[in-house]
Formats: sequence, C-alpha cells, structure tokens
Amino acid sequence: MRLVLVGPPGAGKGTQAQFLAAHYSIPHISTGDIFRANLKAGTPLGVQAQSFMDRGELVADSVTNEMVKDRLTHDDVANGFLLDGFPRNVAQAEVLRAILAEKATPLTAVLELSIDDAEIIGRLSSRRTCKDCFQPSVGVDKCPLCGGDVYQREDDKAEVIARRLEVYAEQTAPIISFYRNEGLLITVSATGKVEEITEHAISALSRVS
Ligand code: ADP
Ligand code: ZN
Repeated sequence: MRLVLVGPPGAGKGTQAQFLAAHYSIPHISTGDIFRANLKAGTPLGVQAQSFMDRGELVADSVTNEMVKDRLTHDDVANGFLLDGFPRNVAQAEVLRAILAEKATPLTAVLELSIDDAEIIGRLSSRRTCKDCFQPSVGVDKCPLCGGDVYQREDDKAEVIARRLEVYAEQTAPIISFYRNEGLLITVSATGKVEEITEHAISALSRVS
C-alpha cells in the first residue's frame, strides 16, 4: 500500500495515519513531524523550516522535496508507506510522481479527509501536540500514545490557523483535482468517531488495492 493522505489542517490526518499505518504495517511519514523533530534537535533543516512553520507558510519545495526523496530511500518503505502532509502543492505532487515512477512503484491511492472550516477551527484551537512523539490530540494533559508532555504548537494559535487554511485552499486543494484526474482519489468524511472514519477509509481502500 502506497498511500497519500490529504486534507486541511485539523482534518485528523495524523490520528488516522497512526491507525492506517498500523493496519497496513507501513511507515507513517509525516513531513510536519520530520520538520518538528529537526527543529527540536536544532539541525540546519529545522532552523531553516521554523519561520515558515510558525507563520503557517509552506517550507520551500526544494528543501521539502529533497527531504522526502531521501526518506523514500530507507529500507522500511519496501512494503509501502503512508505520506502525511506531502505533497502539499501540485509541484510537489509532480516530484513525487517522478520519484515513484523511477522506482516503478506508483501510488496505490490518495485518501482525502474532508471536513468543513467551522469544525476545523474548533479542533485546532483546542489541539495539543506531544513534545516527544508529536502525536496530536484534543483535550488532554498527557500524550495518549507515549505519556509525554503536550504543548500548543505555535501554528495552532488562532492567528496562524487562518493563514494555514488560506494556504491549504490556495496551494494544497489543487492536488485534489490533480489526483482525481489520475484516478487515485478516494474521499472519506472526517467528521464522526475516529474509529468509524478509520473503518470507512479501510473499506474504501480495500476496493482499490
Ligand atoms: P497540519 O496540521 O497543518 O497538517 P503539519 O504538521 O503537516 O501540519 O505541517 C506543519 C508545517 O510544516 C506546515 O504548516 C509547513 O510549514 C511545514 N510543512 C509540512 N509539510 C510540508 C510540505 N509538504 N511542504 C512544505 N511545508 C511543509
Ligand atoms: Zn507522545
């Protein structure tokens, strides 16, 4: 299973990604998590990404594409992968298609989590993120996955949320038509219980893989 997960910030990509990656035994590759891990470790990549992330803007394609290209050379992707947060614009989608074409391992499907703006704003402003494993969750004091401390991401503050939604509408939403044209798009509603959304996704994916 070679899967891309797409949806606006707050659609629950990170949460669904955990369950889907476990279900298909594939690595969950989140570009946001990789950037946050680099930021935490103080690497040059993290330093480079920080100002973009804090403002809700996309990190430069050249930087992001190289990072993903490198990640897709690791052994653990032999069985497939779940990409979360990449691609985030059409140029990145084209680069991904070229990387995978070269290895003759095209995408299996692109899963879109759909949700409306009002719901998103409510979710993001009460979202907290684990300092250790970056798992997002709503209304918690400790990380439900690893027990780590949680914090509010700079880009989950109200001012930045609005900009992230704009960036999504302008730059990321066009990849939905791109993938629809490629015949890869599957859309699942991202409202309702977490387990139900996972079930809907798995049953929709079972029809294409
Ligand atoms: P979200 O909750 O919005 O899905 P992510 O954790 O995926 O957030 O990403 C956080 C930030 O990391 C983005 O706002 C952006 O600055 C940067 N980022 C993540 N993925 C990409 C990407 N594919 N291209 C450019 N920037 C990215
Ligand atoms: Zn954690």
